[in-house]
Amino acid sequence: MKRCNTCHIDKPLDSFYNDRTNSNDGKRAKCKVCQKAFRRNSKWYRDQHSLEVELKKPLGVYLATFDKGTYVGEGVLYSRERVHKYGRSHVNKGGMKLLDFKVLQYIDNKAIRKQAEKIWIGKLNPSLNALL
Ligand SMILES: [Zn+2]
Repeated sequence: MKRCNTCHIDKPLDSFYNDRTNSNDGKRAKCKVCQKAFRRNSKWYRDQHSLEVELKKPLGVYLATFDKGTYVGEGVLYSRERVHKYGRSHVNKGGMKLLDFKVLQYIDNKAIRKQAEKIWIGKLNPSLNALL
């Protein structure tokens, strides 16, 4: 048995994670429950988690082709595609059909993405951007 230094409850050794740097018993001072709670609240954990979320939501500049024109936009790609597909965006509220959705560039940084969007608009001259 070992007393957790956080919840102060005596628990069997298998309730503690191994810690080779602890020369006394090779176990952590916090029990597994307290260690998990500590980890969830740590900045490191939250940063890792938000990074994971970020990676699942690729950001970038895209070209959407509708039956009545083309549009260059930026943002969270999968949600922009969905919005255009179901006609819920300001671009195609009028009931345009999305024919194609192509990623032009993956860019995480918002300021750079906005710049890239302008460059792509200048380059491709999408008909719907001109109307908005
Ligand atoms: Zn504990």
